[in-house]
Amino acid sequence: MSWTISHQSLKNEDLLMQESLYSLANGYLGVRGNFEEGYPADFDTIRGTYINAFHDIVDVKYGEKLPAFPETQQKLANIIDAQGLDIFLGEDMEKFSLFTGEILSYSRALHLDKGYTERAVRWRSPKGKVVDILFRRLVSFRRKELFAIQLTIRPVNFFGQVKIVGTVDGDVENYVSESDPRVGSGHNKLLQVIDSGIKEDVGFVLAETKRSKLQTACLTKYIADNGARAEQEAGTKRVTASLTFPLNQAVTVEKRNVYTDTLRHGEDLVEKGLAIHRELEGKTFSDFLTEQKAELDEFWRDADVRIDGDAKLQEGIRFNLFHLLQSAGRDPHSHIAAKGLSGEGYEGHYFWDTEIYMVPVFILTKPELAKKLLIYRHSKLDAAREHARNMGHKKGALYPWRTISGSECSSYFPSGSAQYHISADIAYSYIQYYLATGDEVFLAEYGGEVLFETARLWLETGHFRDGQFRIDAVTGPDEYTCIVNNNYYTNAMAKYNLRWAAKIYDRWQREKPELLRSLKEKLSLADEEKELWQRAAECMFLPYDEKLKINPQDDTFLQKAVWDFANTPGDHYPLLLHYHPLTLYRYQVCKQADTVLAHFLLDEEDLETMKNSYLYYEKITTHDSSLSSCIFSIMGAKIGDVEKAYRYFVETARLDLDNTHGNTKDGLHLANMGGTYMGIIFGFAGLRIKESGLHFAPKLPDAWKHYRFTIQYRKRKITVDVDESGAQFQLEGDPLTITVNGESCLLEGKKSFPLLAAKSK
Ligand code: BGC
Repeated sequence: MSWTISHQSLKNEDLLMQESLYSLANGYLGVRGNFEEGYPADFDTIRGTYINAFHDIVDVKYGEKLPAFPETQQKLANIIDAQGLDIFLGEDMEKFSLFTGEILSYSRALHLDKGYTERAVRWRSPKGKVVDILFRRLVSFRRKELFAIQLTIRPVNFFGQVKIVGTVDGDVENYVSESDPRVGSGHNKLLQVIDSGIKEDVGFVLAETKRSKLQTACLTKYIADNGARAEQEAGTKRVTASLTFPLNQAVTVEKRNVYTDTLRHGEDLVEKGLAIHRELEGKTFSDFLTEQKAELDEFWRDADVRIDGDAKLQEGIRFNLFHLLQSAGRDPHSHIAAKGLSGEGYEGHYFWDTEIYMVPVFILTKPELAKKLLIYRHSKLDAAREHARNMGHKKGALYPWRTISGSECSSYFPSGSAQYHISADIAYSYIQYYLATGDEVFLAEYGGEVLFETARLWLETGHFRDGQFRIDAVTGPDEYTCIVNNNYYTNAMAKYNLRWAAKIYDRWQREKPELLRSLKEKLSLADEEKELWQRAAECMFLPYDEKLKINPQDDTFLQKAVWDFANTPGDHYPLLLHYHPLTLYRYQVCKQADTVLAHFLLDEEDLETMKNSYLYYEKITTHDSSLSSCIFSIMGAKIGDVEKAYRYFVETARLDLDNTHGNTKDGLHLANMGGTYMGIIFGFAGLRIKESGLHFAPKLPDAWKHYRFTIQYRKRKITVDVDESGAQFQLEGDPLTITVNGESCLLEGKKSFPLLAAKSK
């Protein structure tokens, strides 16, 4: 049961949200779960198909534009819609729609283990014709260009003529909302059709974005098992196809769509698409399903997390992992957008979300995918250098707060470009990947350059004063507190960045002098710079409050008044939609984990400080960002409050499935989805990946009987089972020294450990 997400009845008010839940993607291509035949015209819908990183460029409009503000930004384009399939029954052409006639049965499902969705309906037309209709669709993991829909129509009481009309429509628009800053505004028409036609029985639409001049083609072919032929007709903006046949028994029609685009296929997109169609000749939809299952078997073998004792949470964690797999870009052009490929929220932009909330999942389950995501950032180094220059820095790389093709797309700098921590976050994920894989080749080819260039940035941003290294005028993760001096999170992460850059530099000086020499030459990097990185790291100022024994979020945070939570109406959350930002900035009120996040990632403060800080920030954090609860879950477990950790975990696991933030329609919350996985592995099992190896501190929430997961670590696999009797570790691969509950031990084969905090009953 927990491998299937399903709905057994049609509720109009849920359809928009379900478009995101039932979206299918493969990291390259994403299709929202719209109905093939559409909804009535007055229904709200976000009918969307996206190619990762396929964007247009639009102007950023400011009332008052100051120097170095981005003039343009990128926006993920809604592309050619190949979802359309209409069914007409009888000579009188009764059109199938779930909003006319009568639904005799209905079910919709997403198969997480098989990688496809289906919608099964028994429908009675207004004039009484009854048929069974089944739509199945997949976006292939093995063939990134392929989106296939299979329609099966079966007679129940109606045996007559059926006409199927398929469309491939280039006349599409992006979704805009002027009232929600988390959705794009203005600029809805990004794509124009430049050609359409029919070649070799394949209908195609070729379209181009207005300003970035990227092209994409969609090429479609129909294969009916009763031999019916599709009559295709090309219009100026769309190609339509019709298949007519008598319905005596079940008939299956496959609509096979292949997408190509400039970024991945260069030129001659139609020819390249045709070539892919030719390669697929002879294959059937069932073949694609078989391939899809094989891909998912492989994924789940390494990535599945089992929770015994709670079917709802089990469903949540698998759903979240599945969508992470669907969203991850697998080439140097693409990364993971905040909403993956499931919607248009945040305009398809990539943030720090990927490095801090999603890369860790792939590092532990599919390291080769984590590597691809990291390579994307390396491929954008030049743009990050340019951004640093724009922002007044002579050296180093500053990654943009939000982007697609590498330049800054943030138009509100206090909670955008000012979040310099993104550069340290990227460095952090490189280091974590390196620690978990030991991949020296990757470090040499990509990691060193990213670490050195980001380390340089901190020297440019901060300054030495009274023996301390201080970083002024930045914004930490908490977007309700902006432009502050010495944000604890930023300083602590920058310190880690600097320390590791210096460490790698020193190591290469000893062990790989040739490599270091060539990188120094490429970057015009001098030994003195490394000395400064080291000094800045050692002298990094990390705010600490003696009285409260916590790390203040920044220099002035604790001097502010605490937000009046008691008199804030429940419907005023998220606060960002109801208060001017300055109002929020004046108070101690956090949108999301900030200091607490640094404590989790770096694990360098003593437990007392972490605990006090946790309890302090918990009272003033709204979790208005979906990136927050998971961190409070992880750190709840760390400070020993497993039941609180569990409560936060529950909030993350079904955030989209239950639409608890109310905006799942705009796309899924991918960072939170990663956070669910992290809540189990880093939270309940207490994993930390350090230079000294893997550290665990397993705990079991009261509500669970048992949980299990497998991680990859330096060419080994470790399966961890936790139940009331303890934690059992099973190692595949060479013996490994790990630390469990503070004690180090050699793991060979199987080993059990007692739980530190046993189940409290
Ligand atoms: C959060 C950011 C996050 C962004 C995209 C915002 O609401 O505050 O931390 O990067 O959403 O997910």
